[in-house]
Amino acid sequence: MPLPELTLSVFFSAILLMAAAVFATVAVQRPHAQGIWIWCAACLCLGIGIAIRSFDYALGGGRWFWYCGLFMSTAHILFWFGMRRFVGVAAGLNQLLGAFTVLTLVWGIAYRLDYVWQLFLMLGLATTFDLLALAPLISLRRLHYRPATRFALAIFVLAALSMAVRACLVILQERGLFLSMPDANSISLYTSAAALLLGKCFVFLMLLHERQSAELEKLAVTDSLTGLLNRKGFVDYSQRLLQRLHQEQRGYAVLMMDMDHFKSINDRHGHAAGDAALRAFAEVLREQLRPNDCYGRIGGEEFCALLPGLNPADAFQVAERVRRRFSEQAFSTPKGLLYGSVSIGVHGQFGIAASIEAMMQSADSALYEAKSLGRNRTQLAMA
Ligand code: GH3
Ligand code: MG
Ligand code: MG
Repeated sequence: MPLPELTLSVFFSAILLMAAAVFATVAVQRPHAQGIWIWCAACLCLGIGIAIRSFDYALGGGRWFWYCGLFMSTAHILFWFGMRRFVGVAAGLNQLLGAFTVLTLVWGIAYRLDYVWQLFLMLGLATTFDLLALAPLISLRRLHYRPATRFALAIFVLAALSMAVRACLVILQERGLFLSMPDANSISLYTSAAALLLGKCFVFLMLLHERQSAELEKLAVTDSLTGLLNRKGFVDYSQRLLQRLHQEQRGYAVLMMDMDHFKSINDRHGHAAGDAALRAFAEVLREQLRPNDCYGRIGGEEFCALLPGLNPADAFQVAERVRRRFSEQAFSTPKGLLYGSVSIGVHGQFGIAASIEAMMQSADSALYEAKSLGRNRTQLAMA
């Protein structure tokens, strides 16, 4: 049935060329995103490859297939390479050039082969590069287990399987086996393979969208100066943490921390020195607190930490460690090395998870007391 085959090829080819245009637009809008131009080139190659194939089919099949195979294999290499770039694998140009050298050699030899072997070669290369593209996808899944990544894995596994099955059918049917099965060029197999190719393009757009949303989400909850959670991030994260603590019937402690005479650091040494002090204190928090503690910069020079599972006495010890470390360690500023200090109010309630607002208020009162008692000290709130 030449007409449906031709119509389908023209349809797929047109969609792939449009996908290439979409990637080009995204790449222009987001010049720092990695891998998009490579996917654009891959879609272009696929679109051209399928167009040549429909042309070849219309002419009776076989004569132009070599060009189709070359474009399709190039597209699969580019998909794989683009995926590596997207996940940040330091894939150099050398690897791409190496892959293209092998491709040129293989297709150079394949020029002499007949149509069936060329088809087998194209399907075999497609399977290989789809399987190779799984490695960067799996590394991405380890970072964040999100829907688009899982969908991409499924599409690439299915695409590799469908190409492998078609490659086997080509050879087996050439040998006169499995002749009752649909052949590799049957409308059903061809359409499902082409649909999976389109699926890959959609998956790339989904991955891009997913990454952009994750970046924006992170920006919205991060303090750009220190890299800690900002007020919104601290409140959001602490609320989630508190729900868990309620379920587990565990208590927690809250530390309110405020740098001493911070205004005078700014006034005497400049705003940049003040910023350096904030960054140095954030470093002390990262160093002294545990990974599952929740802490952030909730105001100008005010920080808050929620420490799960700590009783007031232990929380006091942690606060003292933080305070001492910051006061003993000089931090570098554009005006040279400086020292700073911090006052801390602690409230802890062990066994019962009281409301965060009440705990913060109580820790704040203790902080106020620490300030009035001379600063650079830790004060435990009355229960
Ligand atoms: P105290 O010991 O009583 O806490 O006094 P203080 O000077 O630390 O507190 P005060 O509230 O008087 O001053 C806080 C200063 O923090 C005022 C503000 O200009 C400065 N500040 C707020 N945000 C930033 C920032 O992002 N960078 C810098 N460098 N300074 C900031
Ligand atoms: Mg303050
Ligand atoms: Mg202060």
